[in-house]
Amino acid sequence: MATLAQSFSADSTNVAVLIPHKPDVLAVSYQQLHSHIGAFQEKLARLGIKHGDAVSIALPNSYEFIVSFLAASWQRGIAAPLNPAYKQDEFEFYIDDLKSAVALVPKGSFEQNGPAVRAARKYNAAIAECYWDGREVVLDVKELGKLQGREYQRLEQAQPEDTALVLHTSGTTGRPKAVPLSHRNLTTTMRNIQDTYKLGPEDRTYLVMPLFHVHGLLAAFLAPLSSGGSVIVPPKFSASQFWTDFIAHKANWYTAVPTIHQILLKSPLPNPIPKIRFIRSCSSPLSPKTFQDLETTFNAPVLEAYAMTEAAHQMTSNPLPPGKRQPGSVGLGQGVEVKILDQDGNEVPQGQEAEICVRGQNVTKGYLNNPSANASSFTKDGFFRTGDQGKKDPDGYVIITGRIKELINKGGEKISPIELDNTLLHHPKVGEAVCFAIPDPGHYGEDIGAAVVPKPNEKVSEAEIKAFVAEKLAKFKIPKKVWIVSQIPKTATGKIQRRKVSEAMLKKDE
Ligand code: ATP
Ligand code: MG
Repeated sequence: MATLAQSFSADSTNVAVLIPHKPDVLAVSYQQLHSHIGAFQEKLARLGIKHGDAVSIALPNSYEFIVSFLAASWQRGIAAPLNPAYKQDEFEFYIDDLKSAVALVPKGSFEQNGPAVRAARKYNAAIAECYWDGREVVLDVKELGKLQGREYQRLEQAQPEDTALVLHTSGTTGRPKAVPLSHRNLTTTMRNIQDTYKLGPEDRTYLVMPLFHVHGLLAAFLAPLSSGGSVIVPPKFSASQFWTDFIAHKANWYTAVPTIHQILLKSPLPNPIPKIRFIRSCSSPLSPKTFQDLETTFNAPVLEAYAMTEAAHQMTSNPLPPGKRQPGSVGLGQGVEVKILDQDGNEVPQGQEAEICVRGQNVTKGYLNNPSANASSFTKDGFFRTGDQGKKDPDGYVIITGRIKELINKGGEKISPIELDNTLLHHPKVGEAVCFAIPDPGHYGEDIGAAVVPKPNEKVSEAEIKAFVAEKLAKFKIPKKVWIVSQIPKTATGKIQRRKVSEAMLKKDE
């Protein structure tokens, strides 16, 4: 089970992948999926893709993404999914970083000379359009680029330590870093996720996260498929389509970032709410308020998990009932060792805050072409430094208090922006709140800024927000400046980048 190919059984009679709203629904069995992957592997072999070649996949969530991803990684290629909405500069950065052999793009992109096509051409990668024609996933090669003259490559079985996937981190705290993940890394996470949520053939997931990020790829696609269950794959998240699809295709769980949960809470609800086995939240802090709202509104256990690209996604999660769920905590290590270590690599006493560090077969061996990050990211005992600050409660549940790089350093006092967000969200008129560092030259060095989106049809003032914090927290945690805004900038996966929010707010004042 240590390679992707070994993790997918063709025996199940279940629907493996279901694509709603094409002209017709496409429902593919495990056997069909296997035969489509086999046929696509042949096409990649004919193109000359060989061991270690990066296959950049700039496709939206779709059946062609799934088949090309699995085909590329099963035959010792490296799958490198990219957000299809990137601009040319972004495509150039990623295609150059991996020296991609080929870029897979949606049908029509070549004729339109789209940004992925221009970027691939600049770095001499082959360009191929990829789409489902009703019978098979087509690989329509438009330019051979550096693959010109390559011969047919005999199909090779991937080995556990081969790199199966390279994804870049989200770039929240700096330039995105390229993370190679081996078959062993991925299959370990797949098994950990199956065990945590007891995934089985009767489970049906509705996939709302992009497949170009570990969250969607591992938790909502690879783990459920390797458990023999079904994955329902709409082209993207749509609040108005969510419940119709969820109910029509008998989904029983989903995983998403808090932003998506919040959108669903604000959208019209079906009556009755379908039976949901559990809701998973991951990738950004879930406020205890949203946790409560979700549990009461959707009548399902909400399990917050903690993940990162370098760990092939999941590290910790709250357990299924009858296990205890702890709002505000990301739960327990799930097949992953989690320790809170000081700078010297020593474990701190329970309850004390320091850096969250993890060790397990799921963790990458190191970043690509980044010796300085690799040197500082691992302890001598092989623990990976997450860059997140946190502590453990008496039951061992992990509580994240912030990213080390995002803590607000107010004259030496380290303030957790997550604590501030959670406080502001309790204000009855506040819909969204994000706190961050703003420069305070000549005084504290840094001070607190807050961006606040009022609830629909509500108004709130800077003074009200400050007075509210003053009631709840120590005086030094009152934001120096509060921006009342209509929206807060987020990444394509719905993550908040505090550094970027800070820049955007300060720009408003220029
Ligand atoms: P970069 O490493 O480039 O700065 P990034 O860390 O945002 O970007 P990802 O690997 O996508 O890139 O995200 C991992 C980070 O997301 C974690 O280190 C943590 O800070 C945050 N995170 C994940 N899950 C949670 C959670 N449940 N609560 C709070 N933060 C979370
Ligand atoms: Mg990171």
